[in-house]
Amino acid sequence: MKVQVDLDTCDGNGVCMSICREVFDVREDGLHLLQQQPDQDLHHKLIGAEVSCPTRAITVKD
Ligand code: SF4
Repeated sequence: MKVQVDLDTCDGNGVCMSICREVFDVREDGLHLLQQQPDQDLHHKLIGAEVSCPTRAITVKD
């Protein structure tokens, strides 16, 4: 499973971090992707972050 974030689209609102802190970390300087290939057990959270991102900046691929 791969996670990608379009940093040009992300506005740093932190919604993804509230859903999956294992992967998304939003700081003063913007979003940091902590893992690009997370374990499968995070799949449900990652899909939640993908569909909840207000700017649709997150892509999750199996
Ligand atoms: S939810 Fe989307 S726009 Fe908000 S910080 Fe995460 S990737 Fe960026």
